[in-house]
Amino acid sequence: MNYGARRALTQFIRKNPNRSLLTQRWSSTSETRQWSTPLAQTLANAMKVTGPIPIAAFMRQVLTSPDGGYYTTRPEGGGEVFGKKGDFVTSPEISQVFGELIGVWTIAEWIGQGRKRHGVQLMEVGPGKGTLMDDMLRTFRNFKTFTSSIEAIYLVEASATLREVQRQRLCGDAPMVETDIGHKSTCKYFDVPVVWVEDIRLLPHEEDKTPFIFAHEFFDALPIHAFESVPPSPENQQPEITEIMTPIGPTKLHKPLKPANTPQWRELLVTLNPKAVEENLPDEPEFKLTLAKASTPSSLVIPEISERYRALKSQPGAAIEVSPESRIYASDFARRIGGASEPPRTIARKGAPAPATAAKRAPSGAALIMDYGTMSTIPINSLRGIQRHKNVPPLSAPGQVDVSADVDFTSLAESALEASEGVEVHGPVEQGDFLTAMGIAERMKQLLKGVPDEERKTLESGWKRLVEKNAMGKIYKVMTIIPENSGRRRPVGFGGSI
Ligand code: SAH
Repeated sequence: MNYGARRALTQFIRKNPNRSLLTQRWSSTSETRQWSTPLAQTLANAMKVTGPIPIAAFMRQVLTSPDGGYYTTRPEGGGEVFGKKGDFVTSPEISQVFGELIGVWTIAEWIGQGRKRHGVQLMEVGPGKGTLMDDMLRTFRNFKTFTSSIEAIYLVEASATLREVQRQRLCGDAPMVETDIGHKSTCKYFDVPVVWVEDIRLLPHEEDKTPFIFAHEFFDALPIHAFESVPPSPENQQPEITEIMTPIGPTKLHKPLKPANTPQWRELLVTLNPKAVEENLPDEPEFKLTLAKASTPSSLVIPEISERYRALKSQPGAAIEVSPESRIYASDFARRIGGASEPPRTIARKGAPAPATAAKRAPSGAALIMDYGTMSTIPINSLRGIQRHKNVPPLSAPGQVDVSADVDFTSLAESALEASEGVEVHGPVEQGDFLTAMGIAERMKQLLKGVPDEERKTLESGWKRLVEKNAMGKIYKVMTIIPENSGRRRPVGFGGSI
């Protein structure tokens, strides 16, 4: 146990003498217990002090904690994340054609928006090994007017090790330097800066830019909260409150405060499994999910943010998963493309000129979101763990297992439309349909010409995996946010043609 956690635990025991028996017993076995990973012990120590934690806090730690997070430390320890030797394979890693077609889509959208001559920004969130961006950049080289309009490439990446993999891939020998907001190098294909930040909010919003934003298997890694609606049962009920304590003593209330008699949201939390920890049973899971016994700040606030959730609250047993962080990213994309719906909140002073509105004069750019998830329903029970291409319990071996959840595309669309009046959303459509509309069959035929049999087989099987409905073609979906044009111009792959 580290010093900080030990001190916090000692203080906790001192302040809670009645609970010390239980806490001490856990702490003595937890010191000797063989934890599945060092991060499991860190999380257990924290839970002993704070109690159970939201799934979002668990996901954040196991995926991106600097001390043993899956993305942040795993590639360093020799463990590959993506690819055959890793834990999972993603579409850009399966075939170069995937990135090439996304490149073609971008060019088509740029042409559709009137070929902006400057101010084009390429942005990718969660670029992994940099393969998608690399395949896109190679494709762009054939379109000189487009490449000369590109001003910078921005990559949002939480992992320092993956950042270095991306630098090697996209910048070759160019060195990486630290900047105020993150890191910077130069693209190996054409002379534009490549800028890395850990969070999209670190990138400035500039009115006259045209950002093309890509998110491939990024949103499924963002933390979720899960809630269940519980009926007002006697044990959930508090007694009626008739008086309150004030500085001058107890005061009777005119109207007693009635306890809630309608269903309430309760958050699903991650807690220690006492059986595993107390008895030091190696085969028992160390962590398990438990429903909070009372409302938490998250359960009071998060399910209120959308009518889709509010409508379910009155149905006991209803369950929802919500990713507030995903909503923040989708809103951010929309504001970069279409400007903000509301003017910035400044205090108007008498006689001062009216504050400039944040609405973009001419919405431009696009975001392409590619992931697995639900078309229109709210995801439930979708937390999953993947290790070496197999499903494993998501709460097992923290930091060694890739933990993800279904993406709620409707929630992303809703956040984008709320954030900016200057955008519209198309999709989601199934990946197979999208790639077919983008001409994957024609491109494959061209590639297959004259290649040796062995290579032909690999190319063909990759193509099938990407488009077939019993493979990735149906599970994966594509959605786009583009400048508002009253639905007149449909983007390619979403009903429009090249
Ligand atoms: N787009 C790539 C990689 C997908 S894996 C592909 O499809 O192959 C998820 C990526 O998002 C990784 O690069 C991971 O390090 C990054 N990531 C995960 N959570 C993040 C977060 N909260 N902030 C920034 N990057 C994150």
